[in-house]
Amino acid sequence: PSALREVQIEVSPVRWNDIGGQEVTKLKFRQSVEWPLKYSAKFQLLGIRPPRGILLFGPPGCSKTLMARALATEGGINFLAIKGPELYNKYVGESERTLREIFNRARKSAPSIIFIDEIDALSSARGNGAKSGNSVGDRILATLLNEMDGIECLQEVIVVGATNRPEVIDKALMRPGRLDRIIYVPLPDAKTRREILDIRFRRTPTAADVDKLALVEKTDGFSGAEITAVCQEAALAALEEDLDNTQVHMRHFERALSSVKPRTTQETVSRYN
Ligand code: ATP
Repeated sequence: PSALREVQIEVSPVRWNDIGGQEVTKLKFRQSVEWPLKYSAKFQLLGIRPPRGILLFGPPGCSKTLMARALATEGGINFLAIKGPELYNKYVGESERTLREIFNRARKSAPSIIFIDEIDALSSARGNGAKSGNSVGDRILATLLNEMDGIECLQEVIVVGATNRPEVIDKALMRPGRLDRIIYVPLPDAKTRREILDIRFRRTPTAADVDKLALVEKTDGFSGAEITAVCQEAALAALEEDLDNTQVHMRHFERALSSVKPRTTQETVSRYN
């Protein structure tokens, strides 16, 4: 059981309507996972092999984790999550055992999603100049590939990997039958930013002077996580100004915007395309 400490099995409460916008991404992602489960007979009839693995990539803080969690909640699918780098903090042999345990649990609780955040950490050391075949990275990767190859389609286990650095993902992980559906989760466009603000405003009372469309403009280039941070900072600024404030005003948002800066540059975005 100690090997499973860092695996969370949860009835995740994220719903589709907790995720603002990102309509195209949501649709692609849902089709990749829900269709094969729902229409498995039709898939078989037409000889379509359901995906075993999906890779979500894009800038940090743009709802990759939320998407996987919403998919699990709304589809009644079990959700097992692990972060790639966590597998490294292990005694010899422990990492592989942890991974195998996760797959075992996933099979037992199918249909299930194994969500591997920062999956780029699981690449072989070849790029680092180390001898391949015996580094921890090589062994973890070999175990993952082995487990993925062993998932029978009907066992209804889907691996969802997430990364901000698709270019360093090991090629072996991207072969057919592994992470062969690739979905880009972009920075939020204007509509998505508006919806994220709507979601935040459901929880935080805002004054009449708050100009939502101006905020949509001013947060161009921000990730969803950064927009959320702006709203939090603004609410905090309101409290700092006066502990009796019950609403957040535009001036508080202005203040928050001067401290929260977007981290994803245009140059980074162009590298994703
Ligand atoms: P990372 O690459 O850093 O792991 P991620 O893409 O997995 O990030 P999430 O963890 O899903 O991002 O999102 C981080 C936080 O940002 C969420 O908890 C939420 O508060 C906010 N957020 C991001 N995108 C959205 C969105 N479209 N709607 C609502 N909230 C969002």
